[in-house]
Amino acid sequence: KVGMNVQDLAKLLHRDATEIIKKLFLLGVVTNQNQSLDEDTIEVLAADYGIEAKQKEEEDVADIDRFFDDETINEEALEPRAPVVTIMGHVDHGKTTLLDYLRKTNVTAGEAGGITQHIGAYQARLNDKLITFLDTPGHAAFTEMRARGANVTDITVLVVAADDGVQPQTIEAINHAKAAGTPVIVAVNKIDKEGANPEQVMNELMAHDLVPEEYGGDTIFVQISAKFGKNVDQLLEMILLEADVLELKADPTQPARGSVIEARLDKGRGPVSTVLIQQGTLHVGDPIVVGNTYGRVRTMTNEKGHDIDAAKPATPVQITGLNEVPLAGDRFIVMADEKTARAAGEERAKRAREEVRNAGSVVTLDTLFNTM
Ligand code: GDP
Ligand code: MG
Repeated sequence: KVGMNVQDLAKLLHRDATEIIKKLFLLGVVTNQNQSLDEDTIEVLAADYGIEAKQKEEEDVADIDRFFDDETINEEALEPRAPVVTIMGHVDHGKTTLLDYLRKTNVTAGEAGGITQHIGAYQARLNDKLITFLDTPGHAAFTEMRARGANVTDITVLVVAADDGVQPQTIEAINHAKAAGTPVIVAVNKIDKEGANPEQVMNELMAHDLVPEEYGGDTIFVQISAKFGKNVDQLLEMILLEADVLELKADPTQPARGSVIEARLDKGRGPVSTVLIQQGTLHVGDPIVVGNTYGRVRTMTNEKGHDIDAAKPATPVQITGLNEVPLAGDRFIVMADEKTARAAGEERAKRAREEVRNAGSVVTLDTLFNTM
């Protein structure tokens, strides 16, 4: 540290000041106890003791990624959390039908009076265990979020129609899941249909390293009919089984942080964002930085449209109170106070503008993906 004198340094190194002075003398530096030492001298001396001296880096208010560091998590406070699932697969293989079926059955089994809103994510329940589904099937959403650093998916459910087999987007989905490092559960869909050939699907998927357990692999296959709800409970069971293996946990005692699932501008309410909490508990009133914007959580509602005061990890909630509309995949973090949140948000927005200016031309995510 700049301005540290010999005595301070001696204390820090658990040595005698006289020993330090002697050492410094041998290194060609003449000092006394109260003389302050410069950075280089401290570094050389520390190296002599086999210690790396580092200037404490100044905190960058705009750097919210540092809060996503696992080091900030309190191991003792960890609690099991619901798995976060994304459904992927080729067009018309039944992703929307599966999500709709889950949502419908969830409403009848859920709290009274709630009409499920489309907020981009929702939770299904099986035997009192929750599963969070991201409600925007489609590879673009998945890739877009990952491109912004949000890695929210724990498990990928790959829907493959038993009457159509592996198709280009099936393979694309497998590659996305591989890149994200999530396990894949295969839902062989439309088994009610004439001409359904689940065996064929299994064989085709084996060529892509998805080997069913009965053939010595470790991929779970469930044969379902999303349209009629056949074996969908079994699919949920398998998701929970896989989640157990992953030992998903989070620390609800932290200031909340997570990622934006989707966001839009509402005429009356201003920016409305669905966020997924990944650590900590989010409260109404929390000062928050989200992507390149900031605000204070004014209202918080769950997928049933009910107002809630607090939300724990793996819960998707819709919030209002931000100054601008964030982007899907933007990270958010709750700050100590509104002033800090504002400072961080404004600095991030400024840097984002500079980045665009420096890039010369604006590269949109769409053009980026089209070239990939
Ligand atoms: P997505 O493009 O993957 O979202 O596919 P959709 O969910 O829109 O389904 C495409 C078509 O397949 C629709 O006409 C569905 O009704 C139909 N479909 C989906 N699942 C099943 C199923 O299990 N059985 C049958 N017979 N049809 C299904
Ligand atoms: Mg669809």
